[in-house]
Amino acid sequence: MPTSDVLPRRTFAVISHPDAGKSTLTEALALHAQVIAEAGAVHGKAGRRGTVSDWMDMERKRGISISSAALQFTYRDHVVNLVDTPGHADFSEDTYRVLSAVDAAVMLVDAGRGLEQQTLKLFQVCAYRGIPVITVINKWDRPGLTALELMDEIEREIGLKPTPLTWPVGESGKFHGVLDRRDGGFIEYTRTSGGATRAPERHLSATDAAAVAGEAWSTAAEEADLLGLDEADHDQAQFLAGRTTPVLFASALLNFGVAQLLDVLVDIAPPPGPTPDVDGGARDPGDDFSAFVFKVQAGMDAAHRDRLAYARICSGVFERGMVVTHAATGRPFATKYAQAVFGRDRSSVETAHPGDIIGLVNATALRVGDTIHTGPAVHYPPIARFAPEHFATARAVDTGRYKQFRRGIEQLDQEGVVQVLRSDLRGDQAPVLAAVGPMQFEVVAARMESEFNAPIKLDRLPYSLAQQTVPESLDELAGLSGIETLERSDGTLLALFPDKWRLGSVQRLHPDLVLEPLPASAR
Ligand code: GDP
Repeated sequence: MPTSDVLPRRTFAVISHPDAGKSTLTEALALHAQVIAEAGAVHGKAGRRGTVSDWMDMERKRGISISSAALQFTYRDHVVNLVDTPGHADFSEDTYRVLSAVDAAVMLVDAGRGLEQQTLKLFQVCAYRGIPVITVINKWDRPGLTALELMDEIEREIGLKPTPLTWPVGESGKFHGVLDRRDGGFIEYTRTSGGATRAPERHLSATDAAAVAGEAWSTAAEEADLLGLDEADHDQAQFLAGRTTPVLFASALLNFGVAQLLDVLVDIAPPPGPTPDVDGGARDPGDDFSAFVFKVQAGMDAAHRDRLAYARICSGVFERGMVVTHAATGRPFATKYAQAVFGRDRSSVETAHPGDIIGLVNATALRVGDTIHTGPAVHYPPIARFAPEHFATARAVDTGRYKQFRRGIEQLDQEGVVQVLRSDLRGDQAPVLAAVGPMQFEVVAARMESEFNAPIKLDRLPYSLAQQTVPESLDELAGLSGIETLERSDGTLLALFPDKWRLGSVQRLHPDLVLEPLPASAR
């Protein structure tokens, strides 16, 4: 599809709680747009095909998506890249990495449930990254909270000021359509059986709407006026700065509101912009080619025991076969096996542009955060790690399989599945695994067994808090009971504490110790 190559890009991710409707929405978006390339995980649960490795069985059983995939489609002469994220808060570090590769996020909220405690962390990750967030209130066809309650909750819990672009006509459960706050008109939706096809919509003036929708319309119009008084109107600069969130009401299942989401993505979501580098400069999309790796994944498919590095293109034009420089080593890197599609379906990519995501096959040298480029050297900043809150030692069940054990732990560390900490005291046989959420441990255990043939035994450690420290503090910390210091594989020194009270007392009694909260803590 050569003409699509020059179309403007919109690259975004959907963040949601499991079951909020992310898969349904993705399918609905694909229905409205023209799909260029599609990843296996999209049709997830029901339609997953063929050979998948064991840890994907775990994914399937739990109904969550652990692996990232992406979907590329065209809409209104734009190429839209939708990058998938894991739907569980335990994988918020993974979500954070994906968010480093997108220009906007869609926060999908189930109208019946509101912001669920477990998911708040994921949403806060969005706010933390400061990327523009569009909120979609889904399942409006079912009874749930009121629209105003939901707006309050978003502002209170996430700290983003909601600025609804549409407002529902009909309370949740009685979804007739939406009032379009941009022009005051009515977008009326009509149900189709099962929502299998695009739902027809009619655009009516306010006067006609009052005749068609009666009281539901007047209530919506009154509420929409109240929003105006509350300064809840869309402001592009505030949205781009990550301070406000435009809101849309939808039913992904009935295909209501899906076209409006696509329009909003095209109209107000930002195109790929300059990417800041570590030296305080930036590369513009029009400069020489550059990209950074935001995810490395192996064992995606039992039939392809290889390793894929996903890179987001920041500048220039990528052409398959071009030789690029791997910034970390200065070595050339051949891109003969670049792939357009991630997930289980694979096809090779010929060209790609800023905002697009490519999968590089068997890219064993590439690590998460690495830069590849042509032209003058450029280094993009590393992707920050989160403060872990769960810790466990890992040992090979069968000591005869230590080699496989070491290789597996190293691989999972490089993929960022879990953080790996070491100390002389513990030795290399039993490294400490550190996680943001405990489900990361399950993924490690499942993959160590199925991919590396090295089943592990995990023993939880009684810590819940990590602080960054410096070599000068190590001796003094070593003399304190209940605290342990280890080195993370990126060289960061971490001191582990049982809880914040122990940390507080240590800080009071030893004010000279250097103990800093970890950067990019999701709290
Ligand atoms: P995911 O876990 O976020 O990917 O959620 P799914 O897309 O799998 O949806 C979870 C459940 O909610 C499924 O049974 C969907 O049919 C249902 N669902 C999704 N969107 C809607 C909606 O707009 N209205 C209603 N009533 N159900 C929905």
